[in-house]
Amino acid sequence: EAKAVGRGTHCLFETQMDETARERTVMERELREALVHGRFELHYQPLVDLDDNRIKGVEALVRWRHPERGLVSPTVFIPLAEETGLIVPLGDWVLNQACRDAAALPDDISVAVNVSALQLRNRNFAQGVLMALAASGLKATRLELEITESVLLDDTESNLETLHTLRRLGVRISMDDFGTGYSSISYLRRFPFDKIKIDRSFVRDSAGRSDAGAIIRAIVGLGASLGITTLVEGIETEEQLATVRAEGAQEMQGYLFSPPRPVQDIARMIADAAAKRSVASAAAA
Ligand code: C2E
Ligand code: MG
Ligand code: MG
Ligand code: MG
Repeated sequence: EAKAVGRGTHCLFETQMDETARERTVMERELREALVHGRFELHYQPLVDLDDNRIKGVEALVRWRHPERGLVSPTVFIPLAEETGLIVPLGDWVLNQACRDAAALPDDISVAVNVSALQLRNRNFAQGVLMALAASGLKATRLELEITESVLLDDTESNLETLHTLRRLGVRISMDDFGTGYSSISYLRRFPFDKIKIDRSFVRDSAGRSDAGAIIRAIVGLGASLGITTLVEGIETEEQLATVRAEGAQEMQGYLFSPPRPVQDIARMIADAAAKRSVASAAAA
């Protein structure tokens, strides 16, 4: 009896494995087609200065415009793109498109681009970044690259060398999802990051807890003593905003201020904010 159930479970498991494998194969083929046909698009989410509520930059977040499934989230296809190596051409497209879009935004707005481990491991990565900057006319100082701990996990020396090269050229380097890995803190000693992006799990889990903010306060303090800007991700409520402000973080990002939006919408948002500021300063004068 138990054996029969066991065998049945095994069969079901194998069937599910086959199904998953088939789905992956289909998605991989569709991803290749999407690259060829230009079916990816970038949405941008503001990175906001907590001192004056001004938009300092935007993060480029890729979406896949699927003919049947609609707008597909990167959490669905980025892992497969990384496993299949498709992240290299996709990442190159993202970098070039983000630089072009940012070049059309005001000079004081920077653009942050997420970079996967496989992209950075590529010998020509720094060269590709320089080409994207040259082709778009974007100044290197307006580009931020966001990397996660996994980027520094393997092949570390040459990855660090590439990052140093880019940083010398003026590109800024952020550590994304800080605190979710095993040794985020030790990486702060290995590379002079310009910014720490504190993962949104820290704000989400802090709601209604008496220790709300304690971890954020500690990371902000760590950043301050190392001269690194701290940004808190995933701010959804006024209460969370008040907490991160009280703990002294410099920047925030989250649905409360704005979700990721198409570039035209973000450009309008930035222009509207600038117009309001000039009205306010004219009234004050
Ligand atoms: P990430 O780099 O940590 O980006 C922030 C993610 O948090 C985005 O999800 C954003 O939409 C979401 N987010 C922002 N504010 C809030 C909030 O208040 N609440 C909640 N619940 N979520 C918020 P998205 O766009 O789905 O991207 C997910 C991840 O996919 C990114 O996380 C990044 O790791 C990866 N990704 C996105 N675009 C690219 C890309 O061009 N290249 C690479 N390599 N990875 C990318
Ligand atoms: Mg990011
Ligand atoms: Mg992040
Ligand atoms: Mg995150």
